[in-house]
Amino acid sequence: MTRLWNDPADFADDMVEGFVRANSRWVRKVYGGVTRSTQAAEPEVALVIGGGSGHYPAFAGLVGPGLAHGAAMGNLFASPSAHQVESVARASHRGRGVLLSYGNYAGDVLHFTEAQDALRADGIDCRTVTVTDDIFSAPPEEAEKRRGIAGDLTVFKVAGAAASLGYDLDGVERVARLANDRTRSLGVAFSGCTMPGAAEPLFTVPEGRMAVGLGIHGEPGLDETDIPTADGLAELFVGQLLADAEVPTEAAKAGGRVVPILNGLGSVKSEELFIVYARVAELLESAGLTIVDPQVGEFCTSFDMAGVSLTLLWLDDELERLWLAPADTPAYRCGAVDHAALSPTADDADADERATVPSASAASKEASRLIAELLNATREVIDAHADELGRIDAIAGDGDHGIGMQRGARSAAAEAAALVDLGAGAGTLLSRAGDAWADHAGGTSGALWGVILRTLGAHLGDTEPVSAEVVSAGVLAASDAVRSYGKARVGDKTLVDALVPFADTLAARVKGGCGLSAAWEAAAQAANTAAERTSDLMPGLGRARSHGEKALGVPDPGAVSLALIVTTVGSRLGTADVAQ
Ligand code: ADP
Ligand code: MG
Repeated sequence: MTRLWNDPADFADDMVEGFVRANSRWVRKVYGGVTRSTQAAEPEVALVIGGGSGHYPAFAGLVGPGLAHGAAMGNLFASPSAHQVESVARASHRGRGVLLSYGNYAGDVLHFTEAQDALRADGIDCRTVTVTDDIFSAPPEEAEKRRGIAGDLTVFKVAGAAASLGYDLDGVERVARLANDRTRSLGVAFSGCTMPGAAEPLFTVPEGRMAVGLGIHGEPGLDETDIPTADGLAELFVGQLLADAEVPTEAAKAGGRVVPILNGLGSVKSEELFIVYARVAELLESAGLTIVDPQVGEFCTSFDMAGVSLTLLWLDDELERLWLAPADTPAYRCGAVDHAALSPTADDADADERATVPSASAASKEASRLIAELLNATREVIDAHADELGRIDAIAGDGDHGIGMQRGARSAAAEAAALVDLGAGAGTLLSRAGDAWADHAGGTSGALWGVILRTLGAHLGDTEPVSAEVVSAGVLAASDAVRSYGKARVGDKTLVDALVPFADTLAARVKGGCGLSAAWEAAAQAANTAAERTSDLMPGLGRARSHGEKALGVPDPGAVSLALIVTTVGSRLGTADVAQ
């Protein structure tokens, strides 16, 4: 249970505010997250980490000398947007390149990759190492598909130490990859977490039972057993981790050196962890291994989730030196950092270019007013269906589709209303509403709705009148952009299954001479039919992929929400005075 908040919708923003105030010794706030408040005399490669909020101390608690340079902070359990990642990276960059590192989740991969592309396009050398430590999330032959859990810490710590020792970007990337290759975790859960303001836990585990391999957002576990004794849990952890086919052989041989990290997910107490750790240590030692600098505590949490994970980092000489190098962050300290060698970082002059808009024609401003109303109607329909969308997403996904869409649609509607007041044209309004959507929604669908609105905005522009032809061409372009960005094809059970027939029908009807609202209505019908038909499909992509059979018989949440939105927009267009 989470009990304290002002408005649950503001939980993440309010949390960041307090976190920064409490930790100004290490961090300062920038758009999209935090960057260090001090810097070394010699510029370092910038390590930028991040992910959804709700996992403290991951990620912002790990920013400081010897560890990360910045953390992009998404909304609760939702990836930061590409703009947020880019902003934190720019604030943290000191001319020696950027390493992005984060847990391997579809939404994060999408957003961080988009940020990487933008940084590279601007001449900043940027690389990525995703963390894939959770051995239960994919078999060894698909190790690159595994998700990241508490093993994030080893990769971040090693990369941050290398940066502080003056390694160049190639070197920092190399050791981050090495650390990831030699880090394995396994987690169990006894109960799920309840999101702030939610009436029910995000997921549950039956009383007296333990889910093995359950993800930190409630991604379904792959096995379930009775809760063992503390010793029994230690035996399960060590047994599975030592048996993992991927363990580097020379490191795991007798005499190998290993860092164990026993992590509590939120409501398992330190005392319980110590009992488990006693047996973990005994088992590792009796396997002939040498334990180096063990960690027992909370490193990657999930609100009040009752769960535990064990991570092992298999050291070599270089990794050991980097693991033990000094670090000083709000939540993780190691050795002694030389504070006298650090100086405060400068505040960016936060250029407020967003307070102005490019000039627009009267016709385009008029269209903006209508689009802002349509975005408000979108917000209303998503608010009304948020619970249902979350429920469908929870069956094979992580249950956040309703909340994510709600945050995205609310932000887009608010941004649009403000832009109408500033006199924005249709193109600027749609593209900034798209940014707002992607920045606040998080999740894969948030990024894709950002792409849809921005692409449409680019077609509409700020000067030309909005015609049925321009709208249908913009929607077709958005349908292409979503496919090229997310790599999903028709039949993969995603929102593409509803978007493609929508865009194609709209284009065909407009070409056949229909007015916009009639064409839109026919297209919305096609989207609805297609969204319903996704029930019969097996997922081909994304988080739902590993739980395919659970998704059969259930429609794709992203396709359902898209159909809801285009239907609502269609019914408003029918009553509005639009270009026919
Ligand atoms: P997340 O999957 O990050 O939790 P959401 O729950 O908000 O994000 O959105 C899930 C929806 O996103 C899915 O139902 C699907 O329609 C859509 N989706 C996921 N991955 C892709 C992709 N690569 N291309 C198109 N749509 C996708
Ligand atoms: Mg989801």
